[in-house]
Amino acid sequence: MPEMFELKKKSIHIPAVNLYLDDRRKRNFGFVSHAHSDHLARHKTILCTPATARLAEQRLKTTQYTELEFERFLEINSIKIKLVPAGHVLGSAQIYIESENGSLLYTGDFRTKSSRTAERFRLQKADTVIMETTFGLPRYRFPKREEIENRLLETVKSKLERGIPVLVFAYTLGKAQEALHVISGAGLPVAVEYNIMRYAKIYEKFGVQFGSFEKFKRSEYRDKVIILPSQYARQRYVASLPRTFKIYLSGWGMDESAKYRLGVDVVLPFSDHADFDELIEFAAGTEAKTIYCTHGFDDFVAVLRREGISAKPLVPKAQLELFEV
Ligand SMILES: [Zn+2]
Repeated sequence: MPEMFELKKKSIHIPAVNLYLDDRRKRNFGFVSHAHSDHLARHKTILCTPATARLAEQRLKTTQYTELEFERFLEINSIKIKLVPAGHVLGSAQIYIESENGSLLYTGDFRTKSSRTAERFRLQKADTVIMETTFGLPRYRFPKREEIENRLLETVKSKLERGIPVLVFAYTLGKAQEALHVISGAGLPVAVEYNIMRYAKIYEKFGVQFGSFEKFKRSEYRDKVIILPSQYARQRYVASLPRTFKIYLSGWGMDESAKYRLGVDVVLPFSDHADFDELIEFAAGTEAKTIYCTHGFDDFVAVLRREGISAKPLVPKAQLELFEV
């Protein structure tokens, strides 16, 4: 039985429809799981959800989009393709491909727990699964989202009461809007950086409702929470502010040393990825005959094997060494 996908250098290719999945190289036809820049390239035609198309347009010059709503089938050369919510950021999708040879699911980045601003994740069974395993180590078991949100709000309130401005650093797309939803929803005064606002406006068009918020101006940083792109944490402007409290939102916050590495007061493990337990639960839930792991730690393959799941690294070690030198 022929494989449904092949690895071309490190690109995932579906030969039956000549489609590449989340490839950074420009292709004729590419599936983009979500609009984070490490999954984007200016393919001639991009297959994605309508929300991903609107978000990707902000980052790419004009290109052609084949927009596919969740759970609708697209048929090409007797291959059936559908997109399934991945719960990572607005519009994020897993791709499910079915042929007479079997079925394949590719997750892209995903999170199985519900979020405030992304479509609810859905579990799709398939014969073969390619999954991201970013947080595939036991130390990455995140506390409940509610607990993290409460910590964020309590910290913000106590600092503002003492007249200390709070800076929240988060990915421009996805986590920043999630944080905005939490903070503005609690009725706290909040301003966001220009690009975060641009994306928030697109979220609003897709039905996400935020509380009131304003555009951040450098001269007005007092008496409010400011949400800034994560790369701002190291900017000279931020360092020059006299007295602020800095919060960074990242799953890597489970590591004690993260706050020193990122140069902030606290790192909250507020993540838009599945944690260790969610990854295992997802892998078992797909009932796949074979699971290929990507974007993670080598040890996770062994973890899945111990669970009785037939798992392999997507890119075998020898090949990794060959291409990453
Ligand atoms: Zn992502």
